[in-house]
Formats: sequence, structure tokens, C-alpha cells
Amino acid sequence: MHHFQYKNSELFCEEVPVKQIAENVGTPFYLYSHATLRQHFRAFDDAFGDVNHLTCFSMKSNSNLSILRLFYNEGGGVDIVSGGELFRALKAGVDPKRIVYSGVGKRAEDMEYALQSNILMFNAESSQEIFLLNEIARRLGKKAGLSIRVNPDIDPQTHPYISTGLKENKFGIDINRALEDYTAAAGLSNLTILGVSCHIGSQLTKLSPFVDSLKKLKNLIRILREAGIHVQYLDLGGGLGITYDKEEPPHPREYAKAIKAELDMKDLTVILEPGRVIVGNAGILITKVLYAKVTEDKTFVIVDAAMNDLIRPSLYGSFHGIQPVERRMRRKVKADVVGPICESSDFLAKDREMERFDPGELMAVMSAGAYGFSMSSNYNSRPRVAEVMVKGNEYYLIRARETVDDLVKGEEIPDFLVKTVL
Ligand SMILES: *Cc1c(COP(=O)(O)O)cnc(C)c1O
Repeated sequence: MHHFQYKNSELFCEEVPVKQIAENVGTPFYLYSHATLRQHFRAFDDAFGDVNHLTCFSMKSNSNLSILRLFYNEGGGVDIVSGGELFRALKAGVDPKRIVYSGVGKRAEDMEYALQSNILMFNAESSQEIFLLNEIARRLGKKAGLSIRVNPDIDPQTHPYISTGLKENKFGIDINRALEDYTAAAGLSNLTILGVSCHIGSQLTKLSPFVDSLKKLKNLIRILREAGIHVQYLDLGGGLGITYDKEEPPHPREYAKAIKAELDMKDLTVILEPGRVIVGNAGILITKVLYAKVTEDKTFVIVDAAMNDLIRPSLYGSFHGIQPVERRMRRKVKADVVGPICESSDFLAKDREMERFDPGELMAVMSAGAYGFSMSSNYNSRPRVAEVMVKGNEYYLIRARETVDDLVKGEEIPDFLVKTVL
């Protein structure tokens, strides 16, 4: 369920006509529905309501401060993967005791920043990282909360680029070797072993990989107990999929039910790191049609948003629904929706049976709330777009469109170049 619906042939976000926002902020822009964000967060979080848990929103899917704050207000924490994300989370007002730090390549300075900020725990992904974390903590006179991210070797049955829990992936420590690393960590004086964690991939549409992975984690927790190592947290990562096209992923309720059925360790606090399932269908990208170009072979609808604004189609061949902001009787065409960027991979939809658009019309690219803005770049010197949040009959600019000055921020031409006279 989401709150992007037509009323009298006009697309609305909650109570606000999309067209009205476009007139005021220009195009392209990301548009989020507050009610949808909150509803998705609650649906997920409430599904685990009867177990000790912490929902740590995976902020790499959408790191806008207002969105982080909204989930924090709802009782959530965040899952971060960099010092930059930590900065954002703290800036949004997130309590560091609700922050977990994942990622295969944590830099020493970022770990230091996280230790100084007193985050809940680090999900370490290699033996070397565990030793380095202990070193840094010792130097700072701190104790680092540690969880080891294990790689359970489970096939999540998703796109290879977003599969992370297979042996051949770079993530985590081989679950069969984890006891060794836990034992080593237990001998280090500036670490406190807090948990076991995993994250097997993204956009999963089946429950079985989650359950299989949980079984392996439970087994590891038992092995650890026998070795005298006790954990309080079980971090199950994120990965639950959403409907972009015709996928039928389980509802968070079913996901939680399957997890809880398998979970018989009452003394554990479960950490969940959902990203896409919360924000994916709570945001859309609004763009304007510039031209329609009909060649001998194809029809191209050229719009003012591009792969730098939403890279998922170019990167993963992902599907995003294409809808007109104003509905009317239209002929159907088969077309590519493309942006102005000088790459043939710059498309938002390919060979799509869709409605015909005329120049100047607004188009909605659906399901763009996750890995949309957060993956955007300045390629082709395109300022990053604005982000808007609607609540009821009001809308708020939650990130201003970048200016051309933002594009050259920090750049400087050395004197020797300035002085060169031709
Ligand atoms: C990306 C990521 C997530 C979130 O994945 P979604 O598919 O968006 O739910 C959670 N945990 C970790 C460690 C991640 O890297």
C-alpha cells in the first residue's frame, strides 16, 4: 500500500497534487509520502512487536536526514556503512546506542569516530578488522561492542550484484571459521562480544533463504555457548524484497512469523536492518518529458532525469513502473525512457509497453524511494535533484536541488595554471 494515487485523473501524493509540487520545485525531484514511510516502518516493526528487537533502518537505501529522523521518532535505530553515514545519523539526532556499523572495509578513522560516538556495535567482517578495532579501542581507552558478520553460504536467489551471503561474496566471515575468530576476539581486552550478525542479500522474494540462514546462525550461537561465549544480539540483516513489477514478496508479517517460528532463544535481542522494504515504495521520481524521438527501429522518450539520478535500471536492469502524472486517453507505444546523459546505458525503462507522452508532460517513475537518491551522482555535471516530503495536505522541501556552485565546491585552479598565458 502506498499513498500515490489518482484523483480525477491527477496523480496525488497523499492530499497534494504532484503537478503543483513540480510547478514549485521544478523537475526532476524525488517525492516521498510521510504516511507511507511511517506505515511501512510500523508494519515491519510491529510484526516483531512481541520479541525483544531493534529495527535499524539500513540508511544506505535512503539517507535523507528527515527520513532518518522519522524512523528514529518511531523507535528505530540505523544500520550504517561509513563514517559519512554516521555523521548523517548523528546529525538527524539518532541516539548512538541505536546504531550498528556494518561494512567490509571500515577505515581506521571511521572506526575511531564511531568509538568516540559510542555506537552500539560493530559488525566486523574480517579477522584483521577485529584486531584493528581492538587496537583503536585500546588507544582511546574504550571498549568496542562487537558482533561478527558471518557468511552463511546461502543463495538468496536474487540479482548477483545484490547477493551477499554466498561463499564467493566478499562479505562476512565464513560461518564455519567464525568460532576461531570469536575465540580470538574473546581474548582481546578492548572488545565486548555482543552478537552474531548476517545479511545475505537484497530484494529477496522468498522466505526460505532467511530461515535457512537463521538455522545456521542458531547453530553457531549454540557452538559459541559451548565454548563459553555468550551473545545478546542476533542481527538478521535486511533484504526483504518489494513489488516493482510483478514480484510477490512476503509481507513483513509473514517474514516476522517465519523468523519467530524458528527463533527459540528468548534471551536474545533481534536486530533487523530493513532498507528497501520500508522506503522503496514510499518514494517516486518525478521527471519531465523533453522530447519524443521516433527512429526507424525505436521510440525514445527523452526525459530530464537520468541514470545519475536513478541508476538502478542501468546498474541492475531493474524495472520501475512508468506512469503519467495526468491521466488521459492515450495511445500505447513501446518505448525506451532515456535521460540526457551521454551513455547508452542511460535509461529508466527499456522496450516498455507504455502510454504515449508528449513533450512538457510530467512522468512518475515509481518505486524509487530505495537506492534512488542515495545512489545518485553528479555525472555529466548534473546537480543532484531536490527531495520533497508530503504530509497530508502540506509538502516540505527536505533537500534543496543542488546548484552549479555545489558542482565545483572544493575545486581550485592552481596559480601556475591561472598564470599561464597562451
Ligand atoms: C544493504 C544492507 C541492508 C539493507 O538491505 P535491504 O535489501 O535494503 O533491506 C542491511 N544490512 C546490511 C549489512 C546491508 O549492507
